[in-house]
Amino acid sequence: MAYLNENYLKLQAGYLFPEIARRVREFCEANPEPAKRLIRCGIGDVTEPLPPAAIEAMKRAVDELGKRETFRGYGPEQGYEFLRSTIAQHDYRDRNIDIADDEIFVSDGSKCDCGYILDILGDQNRVAVPDPVYPVYVDTNVMAGHTGLARKDGSYEGIIYLPCTAENNFVPEPPKEHADLVYLCFPNNPTGAVASREKLSRWVEYARAHEAILLFDAAYAAYISQPEIPRSIFEISGARECAIELRSFSKNGGFTGVRCGFTVMPKSLLARTENGQRLSLYQLWHRRWSTKANSVSYPVQRGAEALYTPQGREQVDALIDHYMGNAKILREAAAETGMEAFGGVNAPYIWVKTPNGLTSWEIFDRILRDINVVVTPGSGFGAQGEGYFRISAFNSRENAEEVEWRLKSFR
Ligand SMILES: *Cc1c(COP(=O)(O)O)cnc(C)c1O
Repeated sequence: MAYLNENYLKLQAGYLFPEIARRVREFCEANPEPAKRLIRCGIGDVTEPLPPAAIEAMKRAVDELGKRETFRGYGPEQGYEFLRSTIAQHDYRDRNIDIADDEIFVSDGSKCDCGYILDILGDQNRVAVPDPVYPVYVDTNVMAGHTGLARKDGSYEGIIYLPCTAENNFVPEPPKEHADLVYLCFPNNPTGAVASREKLSRWVEYARAHEAILLFDAAYAAYISQPEIPRSIFEISGARECAIELRSFSKNGGFTGVRCGFTVMPKSLLARTENGQRLSLYQLWHRRWSTKANSVSYPVQRGAEALYTPQGREQVDALIDHYMGNAKILREAAAETGMEAFGGVNAPYIWVKTPNGLTSWEIFDRILRDINVVVTPGSGFGAQGEGYFRISAFNSRENAEEVEWRLKSFR
């Protein structure tokens, strides 16, 4: 009999979202009338339709594929030049960040890239993640065999957890100990926190001193409203020698179902072999794509490109204004109930301290029962998330206003 990958057996049984679904289902079955007014502010998925510019570009691309003269088969494995150059120009060079077209690798999304990137990194690396954390960073490392077993609190042996607390404004300091690979996510899911230039500089210094790599997840970069906050790790000098950036069209263009994102892999980023040779990771990443993938479908790449046209940008800005309008409403409503609310200014998430020392699951149950709103318990994102819950601003305005109104009656 063939052997399976036993690392998968170490995974905690996908606890958070299935447990939320179970509790919501139970509540709805027992309370059919309140169930009709249920509003979900739990899941990190967009709600609004795609920007028309992307729709039109995708339709045109499909039509091209239907005619002999304009048909295309396999595209370049790293993504079409038209999209790579558009990204490098608009997201980087127009902001005075030195990134070449061919340092952009187009993918089917950042979640996917989190898994793919481990293909080219050694199993010996010591991994550090923020706590609370986007669970994908941890679970992909568990699957790759980079951790020991799970402890009772859900954390894993062999991973360094970087506490993100109200005291450090949810931006962790570099640890005293050595790490080879550090995951950072700003604007942050789940806390909504952003990192200042100074904080990011400290991380770049740490990475250079430790010859570590920063995996910088900037999926929410477009939500940054304060101009002094960096949108890219490559705004920090020295980052080209120590960072990889992950970006996605999911949260700005609403592409969660369309699927498109990219990594920025600078050619100047080196990593070592066991015998001490220092080599460019770029070549490995290029090879990984050539061998294992054929990038993303042509219509999707045209759709992503269209997000950068003048109309596309306007439509993306309107989407973000919509969600951030919700965030403002929800953050103020949470604060009005007397709860301490963080985030929601440069990110579509509000991170709320539970009142009266309630646990994350206790407040989850109360909010569900009393005002029929589904939030996400902070403890599901890590030990430091205990005592918090997350409200997502991904919703219709009508729902956000209704939640605002209901929160006012919540005690
Ligand atoms: C939504 C999200 C992404 C984007 O994932 P896709 O696979 O591109 O849809 C990446 N990182 C974080 C933290 C997210 O919340």
